[in-house]
Amino acid sequence: MGTSGPSPPCIFCEIAARRAPGHLVGENAEALAFLTIGPLRRGHTLVVPKRHVVELVEASPVELASVFRLGTEVARLQRRELGSEGETLFLASGEAGEQSVPHLHLHVVPRQRDDGLDLAHWWSDRARSPAREELEQTARRLRGLD
Ligand SMILES: [Zn+2]
Repeated sequence: MGTSGPSPPCIFCEIAARRAPGHLVGENAEALAFLTIGPLRRGHTLVVPKRHVVELVEASPVELASVFRLGTEVARLQRRELGSEGETLFLASGEAGEQSVPHLHLHVVPRQRDDGLDLAHWWSDRARSPAREELEQTARRLRGLD
């Protein structure tokens, strides 16, 4: 940000350093898991790299692997201890991606059939139906062929 004063501390870094309270669920060498204070469902957990990383593209392969490995452990715990039957993972990266806290975080939302979140309808209401030609053009562009 600016150069006029110290930035406010990153809340997730503070939790990772145990300087701020967090409801810890688990950790490994590179990642930490704790409950969000704004859960969609009971047990909704955030998994963050311990290092201050803001966007997905800034994280190292080891950090990403650690975040997803811990996220998978969290999902197992949610199923075993809270009786969830599935999970929805969500990761917003960058301001345009509607990232809320500027420290990368993977949401692990425990799900049950008919739990009312209804994300499939949210998605299908907004999904486009591009022509095959457009899909092919986009794929070629992403592969550097056009
Ligand atoms: Zn941070």
